[in-house]
Amino acid sequence: MKIIAGNWKMNGTRTALAEMLDAIAGVTTENRVILCVPFTMLRNGTDNVAIGAQDVSANVRGAYTGEVSGAMIAETGAKYVIVGHSERRMYHDETNDIVRAKAMRAIENGLTPIICVGETMEEKRAGKTFDIITDGVRESVPENVTDDIIIAYEPRWAIGAGITPTAQEIADAHKVIADTLGYMGLNGTPILYGASVNANNVADIVAIKNVDGVLVGGASLKPQEFVPIINNAK
Ligand code: PEP
Repeated sequence: MKIIAGNWKMNGTRTALAEMLDAIAGVTTENRVILCVPFTMLRNGTDNVAIGAQDVSANVRGAYTGEVSGAMIAETGAKYVIVGHSERRMYHDETNDIVRAKAMRAIENGLTPIICVGETMEEKRAGKTFDIITDGVRESVPENVTDDIIIAYEPRWAIGAGITPTAQEIADAHKVIADTLGYMGLNGTPILYGASVNANNVADIVAIKNVDGVLVGGASLKPQEFVPIINNAK
């Protein structure tokens, strides 16, 4: 069983989501499929697709105009929420501390956080990849967590770029994350790979050790691209 999570970012419509759910309803798979959609499209999942949000407020409630709380997300029927996506870190200055607070708000409301970590090209060139992802996991995962969490390794330089790291680079990064989670007493936490996943490369990617699934951006928007990813991820 692999986890196949789509991230629609600021794309789609409720009609497009209904069409995607219909298309996936006809798919027989052992994989766990999650679609993380904009707040306005949050709803209950279906028999074979769970719904997730793409962000959650670090605050519980109150005077935070424009923010959406964990309780509000949970009330829609959504079960997951992405936290610390690189676009949130880049455009909204989210630090590991903020991401940890958001992950806590998710867990308190019964949502499973998909906590994203990954290095920029500058950090990669400076040889800092393992430091960034180790710190990302240690500082973004809430302390003493006993509830389900998911980690997504997303090399920021490969997101939306149509390029992926080598299989060895993915294996090395996932081993560092698995070891870090092990030191934290979180063995068995699923680790997803994300960035430029498509129907042609997904089988090779999920065959890499410590890769428990994928987080898919652009290729999750259309049934004709996303359904083959679900089918090919074995
Ligand atoms: C993402 O932004 O989470 C992502 C994986 O994007 P893409 O698949 O388009 O690279």
